[in-house]
Amino acid sequence: MIYSFNLSWRLTKYITLNLMRKKEKFPFVLMMEPLFRCNLSCLGCGRIQEYKDILNKVLSVEECMDAARQAGAPIVSITGGEPLLHPEIKKIISNLIGEKFFVYLCTNGLLLEDFLDEIKPDHRLSIVVHLDGMSKTHDSITGRKNVFSKAIRGIRKAKKMNFAVRTNTTIYKNTDTEEISNLFGLLKEIRTDGIMVSPAFSYEVLSRDSFLSRKEINGVFKKIYENLNGSRLYNTPIYWEFLMGRRDLQCMPWANPTVNPKGWKSPCYLITDKHYTSYKEMLEGTGWDNYGVGKDPRCKNCMVHCGYEASSILGSINLTDLLRVVRWNITGRS
Ligand code: SF4
Ligand code: SF4
Repeated sequence: MIYSFNLSWRLTKYITLNLMRKKEKFPFVLMMEPLFRCNLSCLGCGRIQEYKDILNKVLSVEECMDAARQAGAPIVSITGGEPLLHPEIKKIISNLIGEKFFVYLCTNGLLLEDFLDEIKPDHRLSIVVHLDGMSKTHDSITGRKNVFSKAIRGIRKAKKMNFAVRTNTTIYKNTDTEEISNLFGLLKEIRTDGIMVSPAFSYEVLSRDSFLSRKEINGVFKKIYENLNGSRLYNTPIYWEFLMGRRDLQCMPWANPTVNPKGWKSPCYLITDKHYTSYKEMLEGTGWDNYGVGKDPRCKNCMVHCGYEASSILGSINLTDLLRVVRWNITGRS
C-alpha cells in the first residue's frame, strides 16, 4: 500500500471527524522546520536564502512537540534545512512517534547512512530523500560531488534495515524528463516505497529562469507520467491530473501549516507574509481568501503539492474519484 493501513485508517477517521464537525480548515501535514542550517546549498532552495539571518537557531524538542500538538495534524513532515544536523533530532522523532504522529523525516541523504545506526524502523516513520536527477545532475543542483551516490547508499541501507523510504523530486525548467524516468526506474529497482514529485516553486529571492509556467508544467508532467513504467507514485492520481492540466484544484494552504524558529509561517510553506506566535493566531489571522491563483501574483504558477495535495484528497469526495484514490493507495498505480 502507498499509505500504510494504519495511516490510511488514521487519515480516514481524521477527515471524517473534521467533516462531521463541519470544520472548514484543518491541517493534514504539519511542515516542521526545526532548523534552517544545511550541509548543502542547492540551486532553487528558497529556505537557506530567506532565513539566512537565523541559520543558527533551532526549535527545541519541547517547541517541536508543542507545535505538533497545537496543529494536531496526523502527519508531521520534518524538513528544513537538513534535519539530521539538529542536535536532538532523534528525540524529536521518538517523542512524535510516542504521541502517535506519523513522521516523514526529509533529508538530503548526506548523513543518512550513519544516522540509520542510531534509530530503529517504526511503522509511523518514513524517511524521505530528496533526489532531483541522476548523479551528474543531482550533484550539480546540490553543488557538491557524490551527493547522489551517498543518498543512494543511504536509501539502499535503509531498505535493507526495513525502513519505509520515499523520495522527493523537484522538476525545474531544464529538467530532462528522460533522466527522471531513469531515476524513477532506479528507485523502482531499489524498491522504494513511493515517489513524490512536484514542480519547483518560483521563490522571489531566486532568479526566475529555472522555473516552469503552469502551461509548461502540464506538458512536462504529461511526459513524465507517460514514462513511469510502473513506478510507485506517492502523489494521488487526482493531483497528477491537476499537474497534467486535466482538472482544476483550488489551493488549500492551511492544510500544510509550517512552523519554524521564527514562528508559524503565513500563508503557506512557499510564501511568507508574516510569522505568528501560535497555530491558532496564524489560522485566524491569515486572510486566506487573498491567496491562490488570480488573487496573489506570487501564486500564479504554483502547482506545488503542499498547496494542492489536500484538495486532491478532499476533492475526491465523489465515488469515482474516491475509488481511484483507494485503488492507487492499494496498488500504487493511478
Ligand atoms: S538540501 Fe534542502 S535545505 Fe539544504 S540547500 Fe538543498 S534544498 Fe535547501
Ligand atoms: S497557490 Fe501556492 S504559493 Fe499561493 S498560497 Fe497556495 S500554496 Fe502558497
